[in-house]
Amino acid sequence: MQRAVKQLMLPKKNYTNLLMLLITIHFSAVKLGAEPVSMYMHTVESYDLEVVFNVTAHSLTGKSSIVYTGESKEKIGFILNSNFDISTSSIGKTNIVLTKEDEFDPEKVFANYGRMGGINTDKVAFWTANIPAQYRKDRKIALKIEWTGILYVEPENREFSRESIALEVSGTIGQEGIFLSPSAYWYPYVPESPATYRLETRLPIGWNGVTAGSPKWHDEGEYAVVEHISNQPIDGLNFSANKYIVKSVDHNGVIVMTYMLPEEESLADGYIESSIGYIDRYSSQIAPYPFPKFAVVDNFLPSGYGMPGWTLLGSEVLRLPFIRFTSLGHEVLHNWFGNSMWVDYRGGNWCEGLTTYLADYAYKNERDSSAGIEYRANALNDIVSYVDVEGEYPISEFTGRQNSRDRAIGYGKVMMVFHMLRGLMETRSPTLFDEIIREVYIENQWKALSWEQWQASIEASFGQSLDWLFDQYVKGKGIPEISIQNVQYDEYDSGWQANFEVHTMPDEAHYSYMLPVRHYLKDWSYDDVSVYIHHPIQKVRIVGGSEIRTIKLDPGFDILRVPYALSITISAFFGSKDGILVVSSSSPMKDSFLKAADGLKREGQMIVLDSEFTDEMKDHSIWIFGIDNKLWDSYQQPIKELSSSDSSSITLTVITIHPTNPKATIVRTACTEDADPVAGTRKLSHYGKYSYLKFEGDKNIEKGTLPFSGENPMNWFVVD
Ligand SMILES: [Zn+2]
Repeated sequence: MQRAVKQLMLPKKNYTNLLMLLITIHFSAVKLGAEPVSMYMHTVESYDLEVVFNVTAHSLTGKSSIVYTGESKEKIGFILNSNFDISTSSIGKTNIVLTKEDEFDPEKVFANYGRMGGINTDKVAFWTANIPAQYRKDRKIALKIEWTGILYVEPENREFSRESIALEVSGTIGQEGIFLSPSAYWYPYVPESPATYRLETRLPIGWNGVTAGSPKWHDEGEYAVVEHISNQPIDGLNFSANKYIVKSVDHNGVIVMTYMLPEEESLADGYIESSIGYIDRYSSQIAPYPFPKFAVVDNFLPSGYGMPGWTLLGSEVLRLPFIRFTSLGHEVLHNWFGNSMWVDYRGGNWCEGLTTYLADYAYKNERDSSAGIEYRANALNDIVSYVDVEGEYPISEFTGRQNSRDRAIGYGKVMMVFHMLRGLMETRSPTLFDEIIREVYIENQWKALSWEQWQASIEASFGQSLDWLFDQYVKGKGIPEISIQNVQYDEYDSGWQANFEVHTMPDEAHYSYMLPVRHYLKDWSYDDVSVYIHHPIQKVRIVGGSEIRTIKLDPGFDILRVPYALSITISAFFGSKDGILVVSSSSPMKDSFLKAADGLKREGQMIVLDSEFTDEMKDHSIWIFGIDNKLWDSYQQPIKELSSSDSSSITLTVITIHPTNPKATIVRTACTEDADPVAGTRKLSHYGKYSYLKFEGDKNIEKGTLPFSGENPMNWFVVD
């Protein structure tokens, strides 16, 4: 790539020509991994499953027929939950002997292993059989198996992540409900091979069940029989069953349904109406809705999942009034990105960030562009707060969300990459980005797509290499710090001229990006130009007619960079690797504070009593619990304090910048006499973007942000 060493300053509409000059055309080739040689037949065309559930015994008994297809091979194999038993197995009319393999390396067995995300080999048994000689030449082989197993997780052992309300239970069968995810390996399954399905389940009378595909149900003897047929290929079935009240509406050929538990029945109509809105929105924005139905399904477990043609949301989540207007749209959109165009996980998961960009972010930005700016600023703030030098990894290594750091990278940073791509595409045409999204989807429906393929498709439409962008932000770590320096401003009779330097650190990273530069005139009207920055210290000149007040770099938070002038928020403490939580040793609430601190502590952080606090700890980020804490008066007092009008069960938490270490923070939590500090801090990780929070019990009653007091090195003001 050639890099011109020239000062660049152009109005936005011209800079495409400039990019043409600067960037030589280079399309990156799509790299396909070499297929491992395997003696196994491993492509599945279809599954036919019949499963009987016994909810009191927590068990299931199933019959399956798996149709394998492709090159004839010597062996056949599948995986199943390692605690399950197999009673019979046959190919055609021939009974076969299955072997439970002691050693199992999925990479050697399945072609392109890892593309669809891989499997947890601890929990599965790999079963194999020799294909009888008379079938070896067949291009299709149907393997029939009968199996049985028990799956139950006691309520006290159901662990839930504090940060992501994600479900940790992979499968459980009981009277309170059935939930089965593919990672429970509840039926004989061949990974990395999406296939069509028929699933027929027998459930207690009064129950109904949901999985992918079109549903039908009727009662038969002592069972409610529920059948789903999915003609679309699916990689792994989720299943949920309960005493559901089902509603359905035909919307232009798509069945829009709700499966609600009695307590949530009244929410059904609202969810159907909102689902229809999202289906219409994305059908016209991307492509027709790809599944026969969309169902909103109530879960007795606190989940938040988007599955092919349905979403499974915990009862508590469903009842939150804002879910219909935010998360539901995100889950509907996953039917395009994630469920009918899959992620090739080997190069990182692009899907969550894109879905967030076209759903959560888009709704905010459409309502009010300043809300869009705030969303981007918060995403940048999260990247800086939750991702420190050691904790960061490139987007190309993000597979799924475990904690706030993953969220900052896989959702926030990826979203910003798509936002920057939209900005670049808009230099060609205002609709190019949307056209690319549509084309990529249509071309890759029912395929697993990698970041490399995204890059190749975008480059093909844009006409230039985007290695610089993908290398920096997808394959690389870090985001730059940008500042305006050494400004020389001169006024003439005919206008003005400003010469300045744009510094981009760290300089050894050699960042390139399109920098929006805005200057405000005396009447606060403004003009924008975009400058292609490709040197760590780059000289820029802008000129104009009438006098100006100020120059601001990237005022709309449109590029991936360290944000300034944001509020100091609780997330900053959660992101500090060596933060110390200090509990008062003499407080009557000592034990509760210790418990609260334990729930708030992040990896690398530690909890100490104020009596154990040493001088070396002084400059760390510190969380002080209790006003009787010895440290309470050691740092300047918070701006928000408990007041005499507060009720007796108030917990207040406030963050401020550390007075002697600007990179660290001081957080304080104070309680009135009857407050429970555990309840009053339990939800704080969901409120990471605030600087102070007041809880009554565990209910938030006040929250807000406190302004950042430092200077913004990306702004320059004319000195009068
Ligand atoms: Zn998602």
